[in-house]
This record gives sequence, structure tokens and C-alpha cells, in this order.
Amino acid sequence: MTLPELALDLKDCRRCRLASGRTQVVFGVGNPHATIMFVGEAPGFYEDRQGEPFVGAAGRLLNELLEAVGLSRADVYIANVIKCRPPDNRDPLPDEVDTCKPFLFQQIELIKPKVVCTLGNFAIQTLCGKKIGIMKVRGQVFQVQEFFVFPMLHPAAALHQGNLNEPLREDFRKLKAFLDRPQEPAATVEQMNLFG
Ligand code: SF4
Repeated sequence: MTLPELALDLKDCRRCRLASGRTQVVFGVGNPHATIMFVGEAPGFYEDRQGEPFVGAAGRLLNELLEAVGLSRADVYIANVIKCRPPDNRDPLPDEVDTCKPFLFQQIELIKPKVVCTLGNFAIQTLCGKKIGIMKVRGQVFQVQEFFVFPMLHPAAALHQGNLNEPLREDFRKLKAFLDRPQEPAATVEQMNLFG
């Protein structure tokens, strides 16, 4: 299956209850051959309307942060764990994550990025299959299967809590440092002290 074929397959997806409240499935956007992929949580109001992830205020902040490290949206691929907007932007429920996450893993398999930057708690927990707190692991790099995972704060969190703005920018500076030295060895999920 190709990425466009997967997008087509999901276009009318009704595998979970989120189908009933969405405007459209928000599949993902960007370079299908990107070496860097960003994964957020779920579409919000503007993403649901426009069919593209990260187009509201959090998206504008993400664009700014990408530019600050010499990247643009055209260089990377951006997707969410959940492809349909939860009502009133509530947190996705566990069964919704379980139903939708195989499509994220298919996207990763098809794009084959070297680095997957997870934005916020949901994405890192989905990628690792563990209950990890983002504040514990943000800005560190570790290996999952054939790619590196780089957990970062979610831009929306920094918009809601001003004290997270500088830590988010710090995450992007660390990402740039890692991209400049990608050969550095990374711990596996098992090797990291992810709990406590
Ligand atoms: S959230 Fe995912 S599984 Fe649920 S309807 Fe949308 S695309 Fe399908």
C-alpha cells in the first residue's frame, strides 16, 4: 500500500465513534519521503475544518519553531495519533487511540522517517506503548524499531501555559543539535528510566 492509498482508505473511515462528529478525516501533510516526522494528538477545530494538521495557533507556533531550526513544513511530515476531531477537543479515549493508532504506524512504515518527534503525552505514549510522562523524557532521544523517537512538548501546551514556551523552544534546540549529530548512540525505551 502507498501513502495516498492509505489516505484514500481512511477517507470515509467509521471504525470508531469519532467519525460521527468530524467534518473530515485529517490524515497528515508534508513530504512523503521526509526524514523527520512530527506526531501530535488529534485534530482541533481548524484542523477539522481545513483537513490539515496543525493549522491553528499551535500550527503557527510549530511553523515558527521549525523555521528557527532551519526546517519548513515542506521538509517534514506532520500527522496525529488520532485522525478525527474529538468532540469539544476532549482527550481521545483509550479505545479510540487503539482503533486509530495502527494507521499512524502504517504512515511511519510507509514514510520511513529517521526521526519521529512526538508532541505531547499522547504521541509519546502511543509510540512507546508505555505510560510515559512527557516532562520526564522531553528533549531526549531514544530508539524504537528502526527510527529514533524525540519527545517534545506540544505547542498547544506552550500556548496555554506560558511557562512551557521556553522549554518547548529548548526541545527544538536539542532536536537541531541531534540532527546535526545524528550518529550519536541513543538509548532504547527499555534502557531509559522512564518512570517515577
Ligand atoms: S479517529 Fe481514526 S479510527 Fe476513528 S473514525 Fe477517524 S480515522 Fe477512523
